[in-house]
Amino acid sequence: MANQKTDPQKQGHVNDLQQNAQDVQGAQGVQDVQDVQDVQGAQDVRGAQDVRAVQDAHDLWGVRGMQDGQGEHHSAVIADEQQFHLQVYGRYPVVLERGEGVWVWDDEGNRYLDMLSGIAVNNTGHCHPHLVNAIREQAGKLIHTSNFYYNEPQSRLVRKLAELSGLDRVFLCNSGVEAMEGALKMARRYGNRKGKSGPILAAAGGFHGRSIAAIALGKEKYRKGFEPIPPGFATTPYNDIEALREVMNDDVVALAFEPLQGEGGIHAVSEVFMQEARALCDRHDVLLIMDEVQCGNGRTGSYFFYQQFDVQPDIVVTAKGVGGGFPVGAVMMTQAVADAMEKGSHGTTYGGNPLASAAALAAIEVLEDGGLIEGANERGAWFMEGLRKRVGGHPLVRDIRGVGLMIGVELTVQGRPVVEGLLKRKILSNVTMDCVIRILPPLLIEKPEMDLFINALAECLEEL
Ligand code: PLP
Repeated sequence: MANQKTDPQKQGHVNDLQQNAQDVQGAQGVQDVQDVQDVQGAQDVRGAQDVRAVQDAHDLWGVRGMQDGQGEHHSAVIADEQQFHLQVYGRYPVVLERGEGVWVWDDEGNRYLDMLSGIAVNNTGHCHPHLVNAIREQAGKLIHTSNFYYNEPQSRLVRKLAELSGLDRVFLCNSGVEAMEGALKMARRYGNRKGKSGPILAAAGGFHGRSIAAIALGKEKYRKGFEPIPPGFATTPYNDIEALREVMNDDVVALAFEPLQGEGGIHAVSEVFMQEARALCDRHDVLLIMDEVQCGNGRTGSYFFYQQFDVQPDIVVTAKGVGGGFPVGAVMMTQAVADAMEKGSHGTTYGGNPLASAAALAAIEVLEDGGLIEGANERGAWFMEGLRKRVGGHPLVRDIRGVGLMIGVELTVQGRPVVEGLLKRKILSNVTMDCVIRILPPLLIEKPEMDLFINALAECLEEL
């Protein structure tokens, strides 16, 4: 970061900002620690540490120095987050401001290739004009009304999701965990009606969100410190049909899993597990729940991944990409499941509000009309081939796997340095399970952008 200690213009700017206590913290952002402490009347010196933290972070990540006037904003954004936001996210020191297609820009005007899509959310890319227009148009008409009344976008969306999933009814909500929680409640209701008191099972290694029930079904690591975990949930090994047979009986209420595990390291369900799980569920009147929060919404070459198997679940849960970036979640279910619910048995204030529903409808239209769903197969195949050719033989690469545009590159070493190396090269990426580089680009990614990523990844691997 440029040393601005001797820049009188900057110092004057800082002094001006003393007039406005609220802005002081912004001024601190472009000064080094000593300068900040020199500012008379600065009521809050906490920023000094923040500045140091930001600078250290920038040095670490190789983020360039700010241009005039931008540093204040940048550091204030980071400092406010660090002081006031609950510190549950490990963040990189990048302040993102706008996006277009597969690219996002930070507050310094740097452009980044987005290979994460907000964790499988921006499937239609950033700020697709059709999505933006739909949101603008609906926002000017009606943003929210309670579920005491009907609204047209909601009715169109539930029809669309029922058609897409092949299921009978839809419940709309706002996130993945809410959709999962809703599905668990519906399953429990269904089970109660059938006189079942057994567990809801989930395949181990899955991730279903952060509510207390969802962590009961997920990885051990997310349960730590949140005990007592509610009873009535259990896990069974993923893709292990023998183990599933042992725990299945008439008392079990439901079996839930991600047909393509995301957080768990990009592992696909086997054909045999899918078929046998369905057959076992049928035999014991157990509900089969597919969590397609991450792998759904076109990413694998079909709207939902389970559709690539000859299996129909009883409940499907989705979120993330369904709203193209607008927070939307959905539970789709058979009529038999829906029959266990009655008016007042579940609900949410925002779920399916006109703005969210209009956004989701537009996002689905972009995917369908733009051929992005079928395209995900072809693009994913190019990507996987390119990765295999360029880094497949690298001694630090253990495996390259995935379906469509949900790809994992498993390393034999920690993946974080690779994510850091990619960030230095202005590429947003992610590592899961410590060693799996998770690749979730917008579905409109083209070959040159894939090549850019592949070459950068190869370079990063060489640096390890
Ligand atoms: N289910 C799966 C498969 C997910 O990947 C996630 C989030 O990553 C969730 C559920 C929870 O979704 P949300 O973060 O929107 O609550």
